[in-house]
Amino acid sequence: MTVANFMQHAPHPWFAVENDQLMIGGRSIGDLAAQAGQTPFYVYDRSVMTRKVRELRAALPHAVHVHYAMKANPMPAVVRHMLDLVDGIDVASAGEMQVALDAGAAPAIVSFAGPGKTDMELHRAAVAGITINIESEREIRVLDNFGARNGRRPRVALRVNPDFELKTSGMKMAGGPKQFGIDAERVPDALARIGAAALDFQGFHIFSGSQNLRPDAIVEAQQKSVALAIELARHAPTPVRTLNIGGGFGIPYFPDERPLDLAPIADNLHDLVPQVARALPGAQLVLELGRYLVGESGAYVCRVIDRKVSRGQVFLVCDGGLHHNLAASGNFGQVIRKNYPVLIGNRVQGTERETASVVGPLCTPLDLLADRMNLARAAEGDLVVVLQSGAYGLSASPRAFLSHPPAIELLV
Ligand SMILES: *Cc1c(COP(=O)(O)O)cnc(C)c1O
Repeated sequence: MTVANFMQHAPHPWFAVENDQLMIGGRSIGDLAAQAGQTPFYVYDRSVMTRKVRELRAALPHAVHVHYAMKANPMPAVVRHMLDLVDGIDVASAGEMQVALDAGAAPAIVSFAGPGKTDMELHRAAVAGITINIESEREIRVLDNFGARNGRRPRVALRVNPDFELKTSGMKMAGGPKQFGIDAERVPDALARIGAAALDFQGFHIFSGSQNLRPDAIVEAQQKSVALAIELARHAPTPVRTLNIGGGFGIPYFPDERPLDLAPIADNLHDLVPQVARALPGAQLVLELGRYLVGESGAYVCRVIDRKVSRGQVFLVCDGGLHHNLAASGNFGQVIRKNYPVLIGNRVQGTERETASVVGPLCTPLDLLADRMNLARAAEGDLVVVLQSGAYGLSASPRAFLSHPPAIELLV
């Protein structure tokens, strides 16, 4: 039996239920809690990551490379696992770069994007030999000076802030004025500077947004990204070797959401691959994905400390909350708060159902993991599980807020 019964949330296809216990990686949630030795904890199922990448690759043209954007889940053991599955790792800081290199990533498959790279980060990346996605004229200057002083040619790609945006995206990261990348209209000038500098130009990076569940919007952004790159390539100092057209593939979190349909995206990529091969011979087409590859593999688990009834409403007060899983509380980029899929992991159906709210131990009404959901009737000591928590969980949460004990992470 799979988990199919939280109100109108999409059925969770990845984890089974046995003897009314949620199973993750073939282990019951009670055993996982015992092995962790504490609550709260995160548990990630590596077989889900493996299946997500395999299914994606089976759908896409073989010529398309898939990179893992490790800011989605930077746990070193996760990065190590993903390294065997993907073609490259995208990092967003020198700290992440070091985790990727420690995991065994060859520098040639690591790329570094993000605004505000310090001189020291740029120097470190240049010495390591990874590809730096240039996001400003200053970065060209710093790397040129560094290369000239040290007899190196730092490997760079140019991140473009296009003149379009990814429609209906959870988070828009391009189009209009943005801190990311260089505006498309200034790219020809930036390419001339790169050509005149001691830099090894690789190609373009165009990342337009995140958490999108609409294939038509993704298809449109990919078509526009390729067209823009082909246009800009006329100004490139050397042939384009990589064309990273971003990702933005979303996963279903809320009751009204359903999994992304890959078929139209794959069809479109089958059209784009020959187009790129003709216009930019030898260029490698790359997608970079974080959440889509790891988000569904993870669960956040905390324990019911107290069961309170306040004016008729049931509150399950837990030892974990927004300080470990900010996104599930609705405070990480959501406009309207909605419930993540939440269940009582050690009694999924239970013998009795009730409407209950799950809250954390923080002294703020924002510390809400489930707002009046239909759950098995829970008691003190039961385990609350928040699904879809494998991306932007622990590392994207204000862990020091209120000085509660940290959560740990297991990869099973
Ligand atoms: C955050 C980010 C990603 C990953 O986004 P997901 O929504 O997790 O797939 C990819 N590329 C860049 C440049 C990013 O900043």
